[in-house]
Amino acid sequence: MVTERENFVTFWRECELEREEGLLKIIGAQSMYQDHNNYSRVRRRSRKERLFFARVKAVFCMILFAFAVVICVKVAQQIKAGTQIEAHEPDPRQAAAPQANVSKTTTTTSTTAATEPPKNESSSEEKKEEHKMEVIDGITYVDGIMIANKSYPLPESYDPGLLPETEKAFNKMAEAAAQDGIYLFISSGYRSHFTQAQIYQEYVERDGKKAADTYSSRPGYSEHQTGYTIDVNDPSDAFRGTQEAKWLAEHCSDYGFIIRYPEGKEDKTGYEYEPWHIRYLGKKLAKKVEASGLCLEEYLGIDSEYKDK
Ligand SMILES: [Zn+2]
Repeated sequence: MVTERENFVTFWRECELEREEGLLKIIGAQSMYQDHNNYSRVRRRSRKERLFFARVKAVFCMILFAFAVVICVKVAQQIKAGTQIEAHEPDPRQAAAPQANVSKTTTTTSTTAATEPPKNESSSEEKKEEHKMEVIDGITYVDGIMIANKSYPLPESYDPGLLPETEKAFNKMAEAAAQDGIYLFISSGYRSHFTQAQIYQEYVERDGKKAADTYSSRPGYSEHQTGYTIDVNDPSDAFRGTQEAKWLAEHCSDYGFIIRYPEGKEDKTGYEYEPWHIRYLGKKLAKKVEASGLCLEEYLGIDSEYKDK
């Protein structure tokens, strides 16, 4: 017989069991909630970290890229510089400079405007070119080319005679001229400081210093002292317009010479037009100067003026 009390106890236990189950459910839910919370926090932290690492990576990549760009630019500059050096005329004058005596050397650079060759009308805009000027044992070289003009004298002791390369090139040219029935000869080649002093003095006594300076060099300032210069046939106005003068103007660059004091460039060269006075530069450079339509002073960006003019 089940008493009412027993029924109540059974009912109470069932209730307790249900409560316990309920409690367990609540505890389970709480722990799940905490787990979820913890999980979210971990995920949030990891995102931040990933963002941070992504930023670091981006910065690193940018630095690498900038570094690569700088290297590329430098390499390009070096290649360009190398090409320019290769393209530059191998210069016959340096050979004559005594290498052992490079004791007093000063180097400067000048920037000048050089115009494009007149052949190319469309690209006649002015080009800025840098020139390297060196003074070795009192002798001035611009881009490695020995210079003697009214601004840049030679030392009194510089006495090379007519240089073999100048004489050889002239003989070759004279042979070619002879084939065309033209007779070319050296009327004046090398002139020493002493010889030039005598010549100049004679002109000064005859015409006065001002006039003499327009056609004759003061001692030390004559290009004839370089050993690269020759007066062909008749060094006077009578030579102008002759078959020989025409042939010389047309062909001298084929043998490495230029007409050194061209017509219309008197204010640049400092001398009157001298169709007989040629300067040896080597074939490549002579061709370049001729093609430029410039006189040597303009080509090298220098002037030719006595300091006490
Ligand atoms: Zn001359």
